[in-house]
This record gives sequence, structure tokens and C-alpha cells, in this order.
Amino acid sequence: MHIEILKDEEAALLKSLIEQSEKIVVCSHQNPDGDALGSCLGLAEYLKRQGKEPLIAVPDAYPDFLQWLPDSQTIVRFDKHKETVENALANAELVFCLDFNRAERLGNDICQMLKASPAKKVMIDHHPDPDLDTVLSISHPEMSSTCELLFRVEWQLGGFEKMTKKGAVSIYCGMMTDTGGFTFNSSKPEIFFIISQLLTKGFDKDKVYRNVFHNYSDWRMRLMGYVLYQKMRVFHDWHATYFAISRQDIKRFHFIKGDAEGLVNLPLQIKGISLSISLREDTEHENLVWVSLRSVDNVACNEIAERFFNGGGHRNASGGRLYCSLEEAEKTAMEAIKWHAEKQY
Ligand code: 5GP
Ligand code: MN
Repeated sequence: MHIEILKDEEAALLKSLIEQSEKIVVCSHQNPDGDALGSCLGLAEYLKRQGKEPLIAVPDAYPDFLQWLPDSQTIVRFDKHKETVENALANAELVFCLDFNRAERLGNDICQMLKASPAKKVMIDHHPDPDLDTVLSISHPEMSSTCELLFRVEWQLGGFEKMTKKGAVSIYCGMMTDTGGFTFNSSKPEIFFIISQLLTKGFDKDKVYRNVFHNYSDWRMRLMGYVLYQKMRVFHDWHATYFAISRQDIKRFHFIKGDAEGLVNLPLQIKGISLSISLREDTEHENLVWVSLRSVDNVACNEIAERFFNGGGHRNASGGRLYCSLEEAEKTAMEAIKWHAEKQY
């Protein structure tokens, strides 16, 4: 099985960058997901084994169902500890940018701080069209997840043998969440070779699944029922659906971070549906609507995200945002759905 992914010179550069740096920051994107946190914690575990003391920084809160990740309490949230993150970035020698392809994905403030930081930057990411000022960009959109890519990098650097159970479970978690529990983007045999290797570290993969996917509040289940029953609009002829969650719904269903996660995948279970769009009003900012898109096969929802929703992402999983009312956002979703229906894939 061919796991190595770096060119020899890339591997040598990465090794020497790590060896020569003491002050290291590992960061990931806004609204961090399993792959973002898993890759940060996985890389930090590797760096600690190299005698480093990396600081992990993310812009804001992560969902409850990821709190169980080992050492997640060491992650520093920028929205709560601005100065710590600001100082760390200003003084860093090396910054790892994981699971994002543009500094803007960090949100305005950290984006500026990252750009201003004198540190050398290394990107490890699987989103298409990277645009980040780095000394080394390990960008592989063909990877299922940043965690899969990170595993391959660590493996190539000879870091697997001493990987701890904590490191293995973090990497596994990111691979699992970015593939919907290995139900999409996951047909490459190497993925299952990697899983077989990770499992030698002795964690319970079934428990990881339950921790992530069977860890909802009763309110989230009710929200799901409500959205599917009352909110989902299905356009069979156009092979698409959308739903819109309002600020009122969010209040009524005692919404907490992560509760909307995964809802957008559900309409794809309907026969013939190849595009699902979710719209969600922000709880704090007027006229901000978060958009998630999912698609199957060669329907490129990242193109739709770019064209209609100020966003982007992967071919089958993308996101974006609209600066308007929810009503107006629904109109944009309809335009996107019609555009999708007319397009020949
Ligand atoms: P989600 O729907 O889970 O928020 O996002 C799905 C995917 O789309 C994630 O992999 C995320 O990285 C990507 N994504 C979400 N928002 C944006 C965006 O504004 N720009 C880009 N380029 N990708 C996004
Ligand atoms: Mn990812």
C-alpha cells in the first residue's frame, strides 16, 4: 500500500522546520469540525513526541459531540483568549495551518494576525484551490480528510510507530467525520489500510462513532424531526431540496452549537435527490445566514457555493454565507436550485 505522499524534498523541509522551531502554533478554521480538531490534536501529539510544546488555536467554539476528544481541553479558543492567541502568533517561529486553504477561513481577526505573523507557515489541507502564503503547502484535494493526509505525512516522517492511542483516535475521528462515517469519499483501499494501522493503537472505533453520531440532545432530535416534517422543501423534478432554520426555530429548539450539523445530509436519502441546501440564521448578527450544501456524485456543490453563497469547499460538501434576511436567502437558494437543474453534469 502506498501511503507516502510527500516529495523527498518536502519531507526533508518539514522535518527541518520542526527541528529548528521551538515556538509552534497549530491552528484551524472557524466553526471547527472533527477533521479540524482531529488534525490539530493529532499533529500536536506528534510534535510533543518531538520534544515541542505546540499551542493549538481555533477561532471559536466547537460542537459538544467533539468535547470527548483527548486533550481537547488544551485547545485555545480565540474568541475567549484573544491575547494568548495574538501573542502566540506574533512570537511563533512556525505555524501549521490545518484543514483550511485561505486565511479568511479563520475569521477577520485571526486572519490579519496570521498574515502579520513573522512565522514560517506550513499548510496541511485537502480543500481545492489553496491560497495561503507558506513555505510549504501540503495540499491534496484528493484526500478524504486532512487527518488522512496528516497520517500519511507522519507515517512518511517515521512518526507512526510511537504514535499514542490519543494521537490515533484523533486522526481516526477526523477521517470518520469528514467521510460521514466512511459513507462518502472513502472508497480508496488506502483509507482502510490506514484505519487498520490506527486500530493497532487500541482504541474503540465503535465508541468513537457513538461519541460523535449518537451524542445528541433530545432537542436536537426534535429539531431534526421538525426540519424534515415542516421545513424541508423538495423539488423532485429539479433533484434538489432546501430548508431554512430561523432564529425563532433556534430559540424554540434550545439550539446549541453543532445541533444543525449533519441535518443537511439527510435529504440526500430521498430517492433522486442530488443536491441539498441548508440555510440557518445567525443567532447574533442580523442579516447573516449560514449556508451548507451537500451533493452526490458529479454534482459540484462547491461551484454552487461559490456562485451563489460566497463560499466554496469540496465537490460534495461545501458551505458559505449570505448577508441578507432568511427570506431573501430562500430566494437565492431557489435560484441556485434552478441553476443546478439546468446544468448538464
Ligand atoms: P459545513 O457545511 O460542514 O459547514 O461545511 C462543509 C464543507 O465546506 C467543509 O469542508 C468546509 O471546509 C467547507 N466550507 C464551508 N464554508 C466555506 C467557505 O466559506 N469557503 C470555503 N472555501 N469552504 C467552505
Ligand atoms: Mn476537512
